[in-house]
Amino acid sequence: ATRSAKHDLVVIGAGPAGYVAAIKAAQLGYNTACIDKRGPAGGTCLNVGCIPSKSLLNNSQLYHQMVGGDAATRGIVVTKGAVKLDFGKFMAAKEKVVKQLTGGVEMLFKKNGVTYYKGEGSFESPTQIRVKPVEGVKGAVEEELLLDTEKVLIATGSEVTPFPGITIDEQRIVSSTGVLSLQEVPKRLTIIGAGIIGLEMGSVYNRLGSEVTVLEYQPSIGASMDDEVASTTQKLLKKQGIKFKLATKVLSAARDGEVVNIEVEDTASGKKESLQADVLLVAVGRRPYVQGLNAEKIGLEVDTKGRLVIDDQFNTKHENVKVVGDVTFGPMLAHKAEEEGIAAVELFKTGQGHVNYNNIPSVMYSHPEVAWVGKTEKQLKEDGISYKVGKFPFVANSRAKCNQDTEGFVKILIDADTERILGAHIIGPNAGEMIAEAGLALEYGASAEDVSRVCHAHPTLSEAFKEANMAAYSKPINF
Ligand code: FAD
Repeated sequence: ATRSAKHDLVVIGAGPAGYVAAIKAAQLGYNTACIDKRGPAGGTCLNVGCIPSKSLLNNSQLYHQMVGGDAATRGIVVTKGAVKLDFGKFMAAKEKVVKQLTGGVEMLFKKNGVTYYKGEGSFESPTQIRVKPVEGVKGAVEEELLLDTEKVLIATGSEVTPFPGITIDEQRIVSSTGVLSLQEVPKRLTIIGAGIIGLEMGSVYNRLGSEVTVLEYQPSIGASMDDEVASTTQKLLKKQGIKFKLATKVLSAARDGEVVNIEVEDTASGKKESLQADVLLVAVGRRPYVQGLNAEKIGLEVDTKGRLVIDDQFNTKHENVKVVGDVTFGPMLAHKAEEEGIAAVELFKTGQGHVNYNNIPSVMYSHPEVAWVGKTEKQLKEDGISYKVGKFPFVANSRAKCNQDTEGFVKILIDADTERILGAHIIGPNAGEMIAEAGLALEYGASAEDVSRVCHAHPTLSEAFKEANMAAYSKPINF
């Protein structure tokens, strides 16, 4: 027998896009259900993405400061051999935060009156969703359910893009999921892809003592970073011990017992080389995920990259079905997914809702952090916009000096005529927090002078942001 239920809105996927949308919808008065086949709520981000990776990044940095000689430069004497890594506990700390946060989402569902179904959601019709039990998922629905609903929000997210010809076993050849749960620190970790995920995980294991080699097809790292920031980032990561092989094509990789053999080719010279690693991380990107959704049954359009096609108000061809997050256009980022979730629900409810795609920050949580928002120099040149640059190095910032953490700079790009801020690019300590100020400035159309005339607390790293703005339209004081 199939049970049935009725809702105003059914959200498929409980990742950052889906769970945030479901809570907002319930707050706006919709009888809301959210479906996820993973079990624990929170999607990729909370389970196998942003959250576990940031736990490993934070704790590996602490460890590295102790054993890498940094503590000693601060007058903190660490006796050789006294600091040890308990890798089991290190991983357990990560699992704890994942559990707390995914559990927290389920509590928020309860608090807001969202019905959470653990199961696979698929379309029967634009107004009917089937929920199927999923084997091995704790708390999953025991029998199939049919949900009648007025509205549907698809937020099924993304999955790891496979590398043609390379088989992921999540032991020796791993994806971003496997690398978050290794059993031991590999002696040699090789990474295919110098994007954010590859470089973050490379940073983690480099700090824990692995020999890390990053292979990248492009001649530069960091995907959409500003060119100057990307080359500085590479220089600093190299100084930390990460090896880079850029403009390098991976031809094949296969496991042979406990090692992985990798064949690469230099894209310029065509010279081939054989490499060996104990663990190979394949981090060449993510792709939209629609498996099991039965989207074809209601005729939803998918583009050549596998993304569900929508208009600028998240609409599909069915006026009651919208799509948000990684499964559709735009950068695959948790905060972008959340903004879309809220906007889509508001559009359902009131006809008004908006995401400013010119103001979505990106952060790489390496050390130092790299963060940017708005236009890069390259984009401004392409768009034919004349601009001015203001830069301020952290070595001239008093707080960074106190913290003995002075690598990097703030770079502000402003319109040459109006002096309005067009982009901010930061490499340095706490860049990921500092970029929020740039976002606020951008959103309110601030000029560099507007920011410069805001009183910033002393001594703080954010004074570097203020001074970079001063440098953009006039001159900085401390450099
Ligand atoms: P997802 O989080 O992928 O959630 C989709 C959910 O839908 C999944 O739980 C899935 O089980 C469920 N689902 C799919 N199909 C069905 C179905 N038919 N029925 C039921 N359920 C279904 N982003 C950042 O902004 N900052 C970071 O620091 C960051 N770090 C990352 C680190 C790693 C290692 C990875 C892999 C990603 C990281 N990301 C980061 C990206 C971020 O995780 C994604 O952008 C974000 O999770 C997208 O949210 P979403 O809700 O669209 O999709």
